[in-house]
Amino acid sequence: MACSTHTNPKASPIGAGPRKAWVIDLDGVVWLSGEPIAGAGEAVQRLLNAGIGVLLCSNNSSPSHSQYADRLLRAGIDPARVDLVSSADSAASLVQPGDRVLALGGDGLYEALEKRGARVILPGLQAPLDGLSDPENAIDAVVVGFDQDFNFYRLTVAQRAVRAGAKLIGTNEDVTHPTPSGLVPGTGAVLAAVAAASETTPVVAGKPHEPIVDLIRARLPEHCQVEMVAGDRLATDGKLAERIGAPFGFVRSEVNCPPSWQGSAETQHIGSRPDSRHIGSRPSESQPGDQRRLPADPAGSTVHPLGSDRSGAGGPIDLEAPSLAVLVEMALSRAS
Ligand SMILES: [Mg+2]
Repeated sequence: MACSTHTNPKASPIGAGPRKAWVIDLDGVVWLSGEPIAGAGEAVQRLLNAGIGVLLCSNNSSPSHSQYADRLLRAGIDPARVDLVSSADSAASLVQPGDRVLALGGDGLYEALEKRGARVILPGLQAPLDGLSDPENAIDAVVVGFDQDFNFYRLTVAQRAVRAGAKLIGTNEDVTHPTPSGLVPGTGAVLAAVAAASETTPVVAGKPHEPIVDLIRARLPEHCQVEMVAGDRLATDGKLAERIGAPFGFVRSEVNCPPSWQGSAETQHIGSRPDSRHIGSRPSESQPGDQRRLPADPAGSTVHPLGSDRSGAGGPIDLEAPSLAVLVEMALSRAS
């Protein structure tokens, strides 16, 4: 598995072979808090056996590459046969080698920044509140990832660094993160606090923004077509699909359909007609563009379990969003 910010497609496990690839989200699709979701690993294996390349794409910046590899193995996925990009890799691509980067996040973020050649500065002794504006303590960038130790002190350090001239970068802006016990605050919630305190608009590196789109394009072989983007968030995965120009396979998960909804009359149905694109009538997550309604698609395409046909000719669909296993089964059956 190559999770660096390299731009040489031939260095990717996908290699130069496959002419088709799937881009697959991880949290809520392949695993939930690292615990494998039934059938997801087998589904990835089926794609690989069908000669389809798999590029896993996560907005979770916390795991290191070795931690990602361990999780993949537990999910039944051989890390050597897939490629993976995370929002940490994408954020690292936005700083320069030698930059002093104040990092609010986890191992994966530190690792990606160090691999980029940046000097990782942690809040505290390395970045004292007093003196952040001194030239010898100057911070080139503040990168906000999934920081589970975030507190008022860290907010103050980050705010002062940005006000002293540091660029503010968010690995992603997901405001929630799924866990088996329910949603917890995501990177977007912390990033919003830092941005508000700094009165600055951040650059966001992860899905669905251009930095990770560029990284995905760089990882895929030159003539490889993205056949599907599969994910459980419309505002990130769905938008990513739109920006790549690929169909979107919407996967049901804790994020878009918590267990408490399941079995209720208001669980989500996805229709092919614009006026029927509802995801239930209960509040989902307060994420821009992802609020209980699928985004308008000016191209007239639909968002459905087999992905959207850019021509809008996919036919009527009125099914609950499937698991990754079902999505892959449907796609491979249709192709055969
Ligand atoms: Mg997800």
